[in-house]
Amino acid sequence: SETASSFDLVVIGSGPGGYVCAIKAAQLGLKVAVVEKRSTFGGTCLNIGCIPSKALLHASEMYAEAHHSFADLGIKVAPELDLPTMLGHKDKTVKANVDGVAFLFRKNKITPVTGMGRIAKAGEVEVTAEDGAKQTLRTKSIVIATGSAVAGIPGLDVPLDETTIVSSDNAIALQKVPATMIVVGGGVIGLELGSVWSRLGARVTVVEYLDKVLGPMDGEVSTQFQKILVKQGFHFKLGAKVTNIERTGAGAAVTFEPAKGGEAETLEAEVVLVATGRKPFTAGLGLEEAGVAMDRAGRVEIDAHYRTNVEGIYAIGDVVKGPMLAHKAEDEGIALAEQLAGQAGHVNYGVIPSVVYTSPEVASVGHTEEELKTKGVEYRVGKFPFTANGRGRAMLHTDGFVKFLTDAKTDRVLGVHILGHSAGDMIAEASVLMEFGGSAEDLARTCHAHPTLSEAVREAAFAAFAKPIHV
Ligand code: FAD
Repeated sequence: SETASSFDLVVIGSGPGGYVCAIKAAQLGLKVAVVEKRSTFGGTCLNIGCIPSKALLHASEMYAEAHHSFADLGIKVAPELDLPTMLGHKDKTVKANVDGVAFLFRKNKITPVTGMGRIAKAGEVEVTAEDGAKQTLRTKSIVIATGSAVAGIPGLDVPLDETTIVSSDNAIALQKVPATMIVVGGGVIGLELGSVWSRLGARVTVVEYLDKVLGPMDGEVSTQFQKILVKQGFHFKLGAKVTNIERTGAGAAVTFEPAKGGEAETLEAEVVLVATGRKPFTAGLGLEEAGVAMDRAGRVEIDAHYRTNVEGIYAIGDVVKGPMLAHKAEDEGIALAEQLAGQAGHVNYGVIPSVVYTSPEVASVGHTEEELKTKGVEYRVGKFPFTANGRGRAMLHTDGFVKFLTDAKTDRVLGVHILGHSAGDMIAEASVLMEFGGSAEDLARTCHAHPTLSEAVREAAFAAFAKPIHV
């Protein structure tokens, strides 16, 4: 059956970009519909990304602590893994979050439409439900927020079967802890999900093309972090170019050779996780027919106001340029909704934090030391280790350090990097500071509660322009 309804805004995709844009637009008085092909809202992030991975990271971290640090705290336990319950915790967490989005849609009078959205032309989105029923939504504006999907390995036909050779989509749902696991890709997703299975008992080997983990992260942080992962039992093959992945009798084999050239090597494992990145998802969206321009990487091309080349069609989130992060997508959603409502929405791309939720966490905002060197900026470094932080000692979380990078002349903060417990939460104060163009001295002169891990942030700020007190 074909029906038609009219809206001010139709958002295609209900991930952090799409659902946040829809809510903000509805709050500002627009009549909004959201089209989602999945049966639940929240996109990659809530269903198969940020949220389930963090549920498993938390649970597996507790398991590892029960094994390795409870005894030192005077707690005797004999932890035993109940994987079905752990996976159940993850599923419950996902459900609470996706249901939360459905609730927010109702609360904000947003019309949810389940089905595959296709842009028929500017002002018209055709939705096909699973049973084939079609409906047309007429609208002033269309926002493409269709996100991303797992990318393979350039030039390699990876036989992903999602049981033995898996992507992140299924690495969050393995029904048994593999004895051995090879993670192809030493980026955020590979190291997070590798940590989960390593803590639960898998022998994890990471094969990475670059000669460092976490590609764009500050080099010093990345080196320290890798050492900590090795202490936790991780194995690394860095500077290794994967040339083949195939099923074998017992599992799968990964063949790689030194990126700089040399002898090939083959490793076998029960499970291989391919975590080599994500690519923008636009299949079936009708972009070519609608005349929407894409760039060489398959991303929807936009201007500074999220406008595509076709009037009335906008795009945000993983499907456009920039870091593929949920909070970046959300902030673009808010800025665009404000613009559509006649306000001046804006995202400060210089201050987008990024966090790796391993143990310890890695968090950063702004420039790395390598970037400042390349740019020829004169900078100062202020560092403080968690071994010198009282709360860190009390919690047995003394790994890592805080690093401030400031302008040598003005003391303005150019970048902050934290390797340590709760780094992801602590980076927020650096983000606020940088958003206000603050200096290391501004932060160092702000009273911080004692004893907290955040005192290490303050001490590193002191170290950037004067001297820290506690080292
Ligand atoms: P998505 O979340 O991908 O949502 C797009 C939605 O659009 C999907 O639901 C899709 O079904 C729907 N859709 C697509 N095409 C159509 C169509 N034609 N019609 C209808 N619906 C359609 N980021 C972080 O910031 N922090 C993290 O900790 C983090 N962890 C991650 C862990 C994993 C394992 C993965 C895979 C990703 C993680 N990310 C994390 C990245 C984060 O998930 C993405 O950056 C974020 O989801 C992007 O949001 P989005 O709204 O652009 O797209």
